[in-house]
Amino acid sequence: MCSASLYLHIPFCASKCAYCDFYSVPCRRDDPRLDVLVERLLDDAGRWVHDFGINRIPTLYIGGGTPSLLGAARIARLLTGLGRLWQEAPDELTVELNPESLDEAFLMACRNNGVTRISVGVQSFHEPSRAAIHRAGSAALALECLDLIRRVFGTAFSADLITGLPFQDKAILLKDIKTLLAYDPTHISLYALTLEPDTPLALMARQDKRLLPAPDLADALYLAGRDALEQAGYSQYEVSNFALDKKRGAHNIRYWRMGNWLGFGPAASSTIIDDDSGTGIRYTWERNVDAYLAGRAPHVEQLDQLTLMKETLLMGFRYIDGPDLALFQKRFGKPLTASIPRSLAAWQSLLVSSPSRCALSKDGLLLLDRFLLDIFAELDINTLDTIRV
Ligand code: SF4
Repeated sequence: MCSASLYLHIPFCASKCAYCDFYSVPCRRDDPRLDVLVERLLDDAGRWVHDFGINRIPTLYIGGGTPSLLGAARIARLLTGLGRLWQEAPDELTVELNPESLDEAFLMACRNNGVTRISVGVQSFHEPSRAAIHRAGSAALALECLDLIRRVFGTAFSADLITGLPFQDKAILLKDIKTLLAYDPTHISLYALTLEPDTPLALMARQDKRLLPAPDLADALYLAGRDALEQAGYSQYEVSNFALDKKRGAHNIRYWRMGNWLGFGPAASSTIIDDDSGTGIRYTWERNVDAYLAGRAPHVEQLDQLTLMKETLLMGFRYIDGPDLALFQKRFGKPLTASIPRSLAAWQSLLVSSPSRCALSKDGLLLLDRFLLDIFAELDINTLDTIRV
């Protein structure tokens, strides 16, 4: 018996954003596949929770895609069905939504069925930026949506903004942040735009070299956004996440600290780790709605100790408290400090260390990728040395 968080992926959106690399396909609310999906998710979640002997579900996250496309009746059916999986409700139950598909009935169905937290994709209130990234809806709709969330959920919500968008400058970004802060969300995610290859935005950026802010400006925008949020009382606790009064997102912390989780829906994955051997198993559903709805089984992958150790560090050092040191020692048989001593010494000035914590400082987080390259190289050399011995 063990505990595991649950993630349910709703792989449908009103339309496709130009920068998006998540698995989702355009769909209308009256598409019958939405009904089939709800039943399939309930079947899979019920079976897996039973088969893995999951006796505690600390957090549940319904994300996407656009879960609000499900509408009130389907989300109520999904949440009531999931409620049969636990005796003690999850500490945190989050549903994602997007303004263009939100109505009050959906929010009420969430509130009446145990949802504790909403996550809303705003991204920008600046219409030229929204148009350039093909974002559905409008700034006016986003504001209406925030009003509605405030009425139904109070301040128990998170909102996403993106920095480095086309036509964004510092004044526009700070105005967006000020607009959002007027709604007092307890949590804000501030993502620096990543140009994923093979997205329409990447193609447009190749054709128009001035579409996106130059790298220096993009970095400055992220830093300006980060500082504005910190000044407003939102503490940064991960590369892109900020919270008021320690209202951190518990579900994502489970990922960053490598807890077990089960994921359902196309492209979702599950990871179950054996604490005694430091190895695990991952199941990944195909990036294909029809395959998922038809019941095709997920891909299965064994995770050896080195792979899991790298993932533990990759995820853990994103988080302001760093990896879970006690769990690291339990799983891998030695302390973190003994696993990557050379890297920790070289990066000492950008680390925050104590007997219970080893993490990058906020300035260190800006160099996360370089830090990870160093620690992975050290782990690879250690492994080669072990093989040679
Ligand atoms: S709404 Fe989100 S998941 Fe859907 S296309 Fe846009 S970025 Fe991707």
